[in-house]
Amino acid sequence: MVSGPSGAGKGTLIRGVLEQVPALAVAVSCTTRAKRPGEIDGREYHFMSRAEFARLVDQNAFLEHAEFAGNRYGTLGSELDRILVGGRSVILEIELQGARNVRALRPDSISIFIAPPSLEELGRRLRERATDADEEIAERLEVARGEMGAESEFDHRILNDDASRATHELVEIIRSATA
Ligand code: 5GP
Repeated sequence: MVSGPSGAGKGTLIRGVLEQVPALAVAVSCTTRAKRPGEIDGREYHFMSRAEFARLVDQNAFLEHAEFAGNRYGTLGSELDRILVGGRSVILEIELQGARNVRALRPDSISIFIAPPSLEELGRRLRERATDADEEIAERLEVARGEMGAESEFDHRILNDDASRATHELVEIIRSATA
């Protein structure tokens, strides 16, 4: 699983890895947050209402779920099964609480923390993305401070100061873990 602050570049690095390692797939999570421009339901996320999310929680459909910056996010057990049955390994892109929960449930999973060069740079990237409201960016930066303090919990840490080098590092870690 790949974790690290919002804006650290997890999604970009994962997309790079998927192009190079065909035996991998990303689990599509559920979220209650609003769709950003360019996002497609069922591709980036399964977008849903809070009521629908709560129903899935009641049905025990989630392997894990967490609240992040005012929205709910969760990984469906069925999504993992779908990928694993196809014989591929799964990448979870997940925030800190979810990573902790998955680590407890699946101690054999490999956890990788993607670190931004600095909190200042993270703030710049989040503002540049310009899809989130100012208060949401502030909240994400606040959460990031806590997440940065937890990086020693992870099996691996990658500094994302250069996307192509960081992608290469991620590919190498995944290749050696799945070899
Ligand atoms: P974003 O709103 O920027 O897409 O995601 C916010 C945070 O939620 C990111 O750190 C992302 O990795 C995390 N996230 C995405 N899907 C899940 C999930 O299924 N479970 C958990 N716990 N976190 C998730």
